[in-house]
Amino acid sequence: MMLLTKKMIEIRNILQKVGQSSTLTLPSIVVIGSQSSGKSSVLEAIVGHEFLPKGTNMVTRRPIELTLINTPGSRSEYGEFPDLGLGKISDFSSIQRTLTELNLAVPDSQCVSDDPIRLSISSPNVPDLSLIDLPGYIQVVGHNQPLELKQKISELCDKYIQAPNVILAISAADVDLANSAALRASRRVDPRGERTIGVVTKMDLVDAVRGSAILNDRQYPLRLGYVGVVSRVPTSTGIFKTGKTDVLTAITKNENAYFSSHPLEFGPGSDVSVGTTTLRKKLMHVLEQTMSASLQTTSDAIQQELEEATYEFKVQYNDRPLSAESYLAESLDAFKHSFKQFAEEFGRPQMHELLKNELDQRVLDLLAARYWNKPITDLSVPILEPDNLADLPKADPESLFWHRRLDASTSSLTKLGVGRLATTVVASAIQSHVDNLIGQSTFVSHPFARQAITEAASSILNDRFYSTSDQVENCIKPFKFDIDMEDREWTQGREHVQGVLKKELDACEGAMKDLESTVGGRRKLKEVLHFVDKARKGDIVVENENQAGAGGFSAALLQKGIYPSQIRQPRQKLTQIVGREAAFLRDRADIIKMRLMAVKSKQCANMKNKYHCPEVFLDAVATKLASTAVLFLNVELLSEFYYNFPRELDTRLGRHLSEEDVEKFAKEDPKIKKHLEVIRRKELLELVLDKMESLRQLEGREGQRNKPG
Ligand code: GDP
Repeated sequence: MMLLTKKMIEIRNILQKVGQSSTLTLPSIVVIGSQSSGKSSVLEAIVGHEFLPKGTNMVTRRPIELTLINTPGSRSEYGEFPDLGLGKISDFSSIQRTLTELNLAVPDSQCVSDDPIRLSISSPNVPDLSLIDLPGYIQVVGHNQPLELKQKISELCDKYIQAPNVILAISAADVDLANSAALRASRRVDPRGERTIGVVTKMDLVDAVRGSAILNDRQYPLRLGYVGVVSRVPTSTGIFKTGKTDVLTAITKNENAYFSSHPLEFGPGSDVSVGTTTLRKKLMHVLEQTMSASLQTTSDAIQQELEEATYEFKVQYNDRPLSAESYLAESLDAFKHSFKQFAEEFGRPQMHELLKNELDQRVLDLLAARYWNKPITDLSVPILEPDNLADLPKADPESLFWHRRLDASTSSLTKLGVGRLATTVVASAIQSHVDNLIGQSTFVSHPFARQAITEAASSILNDRFYSTSDQVENCIKPFKFDIDMEDREWTQGREHVQGVLKKELDACEGAMKDLESTVGGRRKLKEVLHFVDKARKGDIVVENENQAGAGGFSAALLQKGIYPSQIRQPRQKLTQIVGREAAFLRDRADIIKMRLMAVKSKQCANMKNKYHCPEVFLDAVATKLASTAVLFLNVELLSEFYYNFPRELDTRLGRHLSEEDVEKFAKEDPKIKKHLEVIRRKELLELVLDKMESLRQLEGREGQRNKPG
């Protein structure tokens, strides 16, 4: 019938995993006694090993929940701390060290803690038992101990000695039972002595007649009786020194020698229980009885808890099944699916557009720097060359000046590092698309997965970066020497650059509007502009005035507008800054309008007039560069990425993750965490209930068999 305790202990361990349900406990044997009453010696005699912390400095500071697991047929003996993950420890002195460390980690100022240490010991030589060792009661508080320590120990013990637990009250034979702290505590919670076993240690220290009288005590009658033991390990055997740890045999031998030398008092006819072996048997029997008695109440409590969990699962989660693995797998599938959709929508045309936009900005910068210079108004500067802007419409196609100008501009464009630029533009677009996809996926609330995905993308992109950018640079190389342009390309360029110029014009005008609101209206800005123009012409002197020209830069620059730091400048200074900015924008808008008209004019319709229309020519060159670059980007970067990314995701978030990591991942999302916990609780409770049901059937059969007749 010993099977019952074993099964119940198993159930108890499962229940501990359910957590949060302190109500669901199965009975244990709680060991209490004064310090030095021999509590540790008794426990070690039961286990057959020396493993408890020793020393005078209050070495038991936390409850030790000890589960003994009988493993018949096995030869190995080991302990495990389920909360520490240290694995199986077969060296008992190492268990002792760990227990000492865990106890001493409770600071002296606190001295006791109610956070239990869980330890299980598996051995063929231990009975199936579940025992709880508690700090010993003290008489006086030590000088470096908190005053309320006595109280704290007593309260901690009180918590554990409640029903249905069995109390193992340890008292030493050489101390009057009336003074036994253990019996006093037990009386308070078990006044009729129904679930207390009295253990009287150190029987060898009193004479046999007196010893026998103690065990027959009538003053503190206990239904489960008293057992006398001599549980000190005889030092003469030198057991601990040699490391041979058959403590049990040594104690039993010593004990038997003592008790059998007093047959009258302790012999078979004496009516008293003595010896560690007897105690063990009694413990097993009593625990089993108690467990069996609590079977019904516990299973009712579990049933109720299960009903609550089932209700929560239904109401809050609509009975939707979920596991950490399935959650990850589904999230990953959904993410890959959205990535696939993205891949279908992002290809050569999209890359071309991105790259062309980038190149358009470079073209604008080039035009501004090389063609759109403001007519020089400062008469101190000698005019050596044709005035770019003013003379552009009548540029002489035979003039070396205009040839050189266009060649230099084209060459700046083709040599600006298109390979690197194109690769950067596309790679960062991909990266930010991936970030967007993460943002729309369930992974958004999982920092771990978010990082894994971002890294998966960047690792592939980084891997491909240099070779892609070299390849692209190589393939546009011919354009650095010669540009062969067809009419069709010219026409397209003329069409396209009009759009670019219009957009730039809009940007200028938008920025101008922003400035207006900064200074407080259109009129105010006009005044400021007037002031700046006068300063430019030298009519007034403005401190620190630099050359305010329409040097001309791209839309990106225009969008910057006024910096907050500039707003904090003194008023006069701010007016200068705003004024200069406004003058620049106004001049630029004027130039763009003028050039837009030129591009639209008949003259620019014909490629022969390319020196008049550098805007069209450079636009067409930029298109050629973009188209060629995209061909190679597609092969070297995009296709590679599309192929490798889902695989990289599988590697980082799929099969390589340990079960723990998957669990950790899923629980990053508090909603998922709660969902998973409800399911787990439900499953564990169902499992427990199932086990309990089969136990009850087993009991029923045993009962039938034991019926007389
Ligand atoms: P605890 O503080 O209650 O855990 O007590 P211990 O088990 O550490 O025992 C306190 C002291 O009493 C130790 O020196 C033990 O060797 C000694 N002791 C324990 N049991 C017996 C016993 O049955 N007989 C004798 N003579 N000494 C014992």
